[in-house]
Amino acid sequence: MKATFHNSYATLPAPLFVRQNPVAVTAPKALALNTALADELGITFGDDWADFIAGNKVPHGADPITQAYSGHQFGHWNPQLGDGRAVLLGEVSGMDIQLKGSGRTPWSRGGDGRAWIGPVLREFVISEAMHALGVPTTRALAMVETGDQILREDGLLPGAVLARVAPSHIRVGTFQYFSAREDLASLTALFDHTADRHFDGTREPNVVLAEAVERQAKLVAQWMGLGFIHGVMNTDNSHVGGITIDYGPCAFMDAFDPMRVFSSIDHTGRYAFGNQPKMAAWNMAQLATALLPLMDDREAAIKDFTAIVHGFSAHFTAAYRSVYAAKLGLPDTPESDAIIQDFMDIMAMTGADFTQTFAGFADNPETLAVAQHPEFDGWFARWRDHAGPAPKNPQVIPRNHFVQGAIDAAVTGDLGPFRALWSACKTPFQAPQDAALIQPPVPEQIVSRTFCGT
Ligand code: AMP
Ligand code: MG
Repeated sequence: MKATFHNSYATLPAPLFVRQNPVAVTAPKALALNTALADELGITFGDDWADFIAGNKVPHGADPITQAYSGHQFGHWNPQLGDGRAVLLGEVSGMDIQLKGSGRTPWSRGGDGRAWIGPVLREFVISEAMHALGVPTTRALAMVETGDQILREDGLLPGAVLARVAPSHIRVGTFQYFSAREDLASLTALFDHTADRHFDGTREPNVVLAEAVERQAKLVAQWMGLGFIHGVMNTDNSHVGGITIDYGPCAFMDAFDPMRVFSSIDHTGRYAFGNQPKMAAWNMAQLATALLPLMDDREAAIKDFTAIVHGFSAHFTAAYRSVYAAKLGLPDTPESDAIIQDFMDIMAMTGADFTQTFAGFADNPETLAVAQHPEFDGWFARWRDHAGPAPKNPQVIPRNHFVQGAIDAAVTGDLGPFRALWSACKTPFQAPQDAALIQPPVPEQIVSRTFCGT
């Protein structure tokens, strides 16, 4: 593996990270290499690439570290999380190269520092699909099997490592870690570093907060335009730069239900589909709180920051309108709001398949399940009066049953379904070669719960 590494995070004050090499595995086995992304980054991989992704070899110039962070998990403060099963090798072409599932670290607590092939394949396919769909996200560079079995609730499972690429791995929880410890020197260094990487080098916390709020609002609107439910929007899984990070028990819903929950650990529905804007705003309030120690006039800053966080709602409303107006072929104006909402209500009442309904909308809306609803004709007449540009919707989404099928096959050593799915997800607005990849699940394929399965 040849790449030019910079290690800017490793030059920050010591409390921000701990040096840690990946822990070697028994028998690295290649699963997938994203050569297009490697080319973009200027990384050259040789025949032994799997050894580098597995962590058995460390590339020249890398300075592997683990990052410190805290987080609110389901609303409860956890003062110390950190990279418990990941190492950051360093930055290549300005992008972090991180190995996830790379063994125990000083932050592992009780965990084994590993990941099994299920969540690794899931994150690989879904993050690459999100990128192709135009959603800001971490990317997947490669994945390997480790040759080691790891113990999870379901028994022994094949271990795997994901090489993840991101413009940084700085989370709301990273700021919370130093703010909570009243470590102003580290908080300031983290702020400056983050501002340089994500916010044009400003030194004004209110500028960073305002921009972060706007990006989160747009991001969640984009998720919702795909029927996507992140599933664990804890502050440690909320990226300060406004990209999707940490795909755990995420899901794309089948039958539309505005308050759908998939995650087996989300007992109260905190991160239900329709709660995502509220929860993103809540996370932004935690970011605001974490930034307060940087402000001289605390009272004035509280007022200012509160107004900025309250601005989330207006940003979200505008972004959501823009996303759904494009999906339904309506003008991006407030007059479209009620037409959008009434369509979603009909979708909810009919339990229509989210992906298929929109995918078919441009061609023949009259044949859709929603068209059977008594309110549809009236709605459709209003739609026709207002319709603007042609509707634009993805045909291919890495839906739960496809991802599950790809995982089940990969566990038996068959990567065919994974490869077909990844390939179709690269051009999501085109009809896939394999027509099966646009079909909703038949009853026995329905995935109704998802698991962290870390
Ligand atoms: P997650 O739910 O994956 O976002 O992880 C929450 C926290 O638990 C992070 O600090 C992770 O590094 C840590 N963690 C998750 N899985 C493991 C594992 N298998 N071993 C050690 N730490 C883990
Ligand atoms: Mg996480």
